Amino acid sequence: MTASVAEAVRKAGVVGAGGGGFPTHVKAAASADVLLVNGAECEPLLRSDTELLLDRAERVVRGAELMRDSVGAGRAVVAIKRKNAAAVEAIERALPQDGVELVLLENVYPAGDEFLLVYDTTGRVVPEGGIPLDVGVVVNNVTTLSQVADAVEGRPVTSRLVTVQGEVSEPATFRVPVGTPIGEVVALAGAPTADDTVVLAGGPMMGRIVDGPSDPTTKADAGFIVLPKDHRMVTTRTATDAYVLRIARAVCCQCLACTELCPRFLLGHELMPHRTIRAVQYDTLEVDHDHVTSAFLCCECGMCELFACPLEIQPRRILAALKAELARRGIENPHRRTGLTADGVREYRQIPSGRLVQRLGLSRYDGPASFEARAVEPARVVLRLLQHAGAPARPVVEEGQRVLEGDLVGEIPDGSLGARVHASIDGTVESVSRREVTIAAK
Ligand code: SF4
Ligand code: SF4
Repeated sequence: MTASVAEAVRKAGVVGAGGGGFPTHVKAAASADVLLVNGAECEPLLRSDTELLLDRAERVVRGAELMRDSVGAGRAVVAIKRKNAAAVEAIERALPQDGVELVLLENVYPAGDEFLLVYDTTGRVVPEGGIPLDVGVVVNNVTTLSQVADAVEGRPVTSRLVTVQGEVSEPATFRVPVGTPIGEVVALAGAPTADDTVVLAGGPMMGRIVDGPSDPTTKADAGFIVLPKDHRMVTTRTATDAYVLRIARAVCCQCLACTELCPRFLLGHELMPHRTIRAVQYDTLEVDHDHVTSAFLCCECGMCELFACPLEIQPRRILAALKAELARRGIENPHRRTGLTADGVREYRQIPSGRLVQRLGLSRYDGPASFEARAVEPARVVLRLLQHAGAPARPVVEEGQRVLEGDLVGEIPDGSLGARVHASIDGTVESVSRREVTIAAK
């Protein structure tokens, strides 16, 4: 059974659909004692996982059972926010008599962070620099698990649910072929309701600014948020590193708020962003300094810069830049403490998502985005060969070749971590490069 689920998942090109893009067949081949189903969907405004639970709860539960058996877990836990009452009901109806439990989460950010989810459901703390498997847990997103159920029935990943929210007249969630241009996906949600807008792929906390409307959707894109160009969620991303550093040096008052609300610090990890900012202020950025290398422990949740800091300093940006610089110099994470205990005050320092949405200036967009089962038929899809962690897929089709939805277009290179890529529409291969395969629907 283990080999067959992992192999079916590998063949179907399933990757972490919650944003991480980690190849799921690797997790399916692991051994763990708990399978954790992540239905927290903690990024403000995103609704795709919740809408999937409403539409396909049975597929999620089936995927959970398959993955639980594949990793040999004695326990499978579905974690969903209590506030999503309809999704909770849908899952309750789909749960078997035994073998899969439901745990209800509070509506706090970032409840869906894997480390926090593991702690909140099992009481285990993932070690510094570790992964949930280090404490015997495999975590899969709900969308990923519905794709696992499909994979075992021979259906590869060719589409996914995507939420469009923000400055659009009809926010909603759609099932979209992988590779559909983002501009076309956004247009499904009606007319723009502001003039000068920017699109964020992923949520407002951890998402990235989309380069342009022709950028293709990927297997890991859960949603697109349209915001005015001058919205704080946009300007914090467009500020240059030099500006971010200058502000940190000039105004940080060492109030500690960023550290006191850092979810990883509260879990017991030695990540103290105020100390990194202090190092920045005094130019003590030697790469072997503990408060520089602690950047490796940051999950880039954005809590420090988008909620905690009263002076709008951006510790996350600084930590991300340090992490990139350390990687560029080939320096590895020296922080590997195990046997950690979460801080006793953690439960009092969790931030309700409603307060976060208000602070971010997103309340006016925080409405429903129900699933609309309308056919989405792009004239052309662009399938990126790297939509996942690891090596890019190797193209296995040629220009002019006819393909059907589900046909293999990209194979995992021999001996590499990676994921297969499949045609998401019927059509003709228009172009092939090492980066992408374009298919025209004709
Ligand atoms: S982004 Fe900030 S709050 Fe989040 S883990 Fe990193 S340092 Fe902590
Ligand atoms: S919250 Fe802001 S001002 Fe306070 S220590 Fe952190 S970066 Fe400095």
